[in-house]
Amino acid sequence: MQPMAKRKINQQQQRRIANKHAQLLDSEELSGLVIAHHGQSLEITDDAGNVIICKKRQNLGPIVPGDRVKWQLDSVSNTGVVTAIEPRTSLLSRPDARDNMHAVAANVDQIFIVIAPRPAPNQTTIDRYLLAADAQNVTPILVLNKEDLLPIDPKQTELLELIQVYAQIGISTIIVSAKKLLNLAQLHAHMAKKTNVFVGQSGVGKSSLIATFMPEANIKIGDLSLADTHGRHTTTTARLYHLAELDCNLIDSPGMREFPLWKLDPATLASGFIEFRPFLHDCKFRNCLHNNEPGCALLTAVEAGKISHTRLLSYQKILTEMKPTRNNKA
Ligand code: GDP
Ligand code: ZN
Repeated sequence: MQPMAKRKINQQQQRRIANKHAQLLDSEELSGLVIAHHGQSLEITDDAGNVIICKKRQNLGPIVPGDRVKWQLDSVSNTGVVTAIEPRTSLLSRPDARDNMHAVAANVDQIFIVIAPRPAPNQTTIDRYLLAADAQNVTPILVLNKEDLLPIDPKQTELLELIQVYAQIGISTIIVSAKKLLNLAQLHAHMAKKTNVFVGQSGVGKSSLIATFMPEANIKIGDLSLADTHGRHTTTTARLYHLAELDCNLIDSPGMREFPLWKLDPATLASGFIEFRPFLHDCKFRNCLHNNEPGCALLTAVEAGKISHTRLLSYQKILTEMKPTRNNKA
């Protein structure tokens, strides 16, 4: 039997909940898709494409663009109340300065990793995005933009070789030019029917590529000046755009385009390099870090040409960068 005090609280709580429900006169549960959040309120669309501003029920945790939710209309205030979050297929997060993770976008299907001849790509940056994508079962697609700069760039063969490394491990690669409108149909076809995000170094042409399918876009090239009601810059606030022509979604915010990778333990890091996986159990030492250990199956695979040497170097570089903070809470 429960103590008296506890039962009383429960009854009070029940009354409160009953009152709350009575306010939901139109209490039919509806489905919604989260577009953005502004402080305490959420902007969602219903199945018919209507935009509704909602509050959310307490204890639901963070809700981000791309989340599918259940909501009800509160006819007293004529606003919506989000009551539940549907299970997510993926959740992209970014760490803050103190390494606390913040959810940014949910149910993303594909990450377009954009690189360009200028600014020149850093392979570990590409590999960090690949690790993040793999960790969330999001499909990565590598996009080389500014094709128009290739013929005059002495690094062109190097770049094409780099693209080849990723094509060989089964990643879709597309070569485009936002400026010359080259191969954009191919890019757009890849986006169709999916929820997409564009990431990559500043200056590679993400905004320019986004402008090719959202000419009327609120996304302005280089515009980071949106400020919230407190005058703070809202550069990390993500927003979902539905693109009717491509029947797809784009989740974007200037802040999420360059999300850094969180800390990984060495084993998770190595297995995030997908072409390493078949070799990882054949190393002589079970805790092999694949640096220069004797009997390392990965080093043998590189020597035999089965794994790209640059990918091994990239793995080793990321491993070194993660080492000092390995014991931190992830
Ligand atoms: P973001 O920082 O990745 O969003 O890059 P932006 O879209 O702002 O583009 C950075 C610069 O690259 C701008 O000056 C663009 O005009 C330029 N740019 C974008 N796409 C291309 C391209 O295909 N070819 C060339 N030559 N320049 C481009
Ligand atoms: Zn090894």
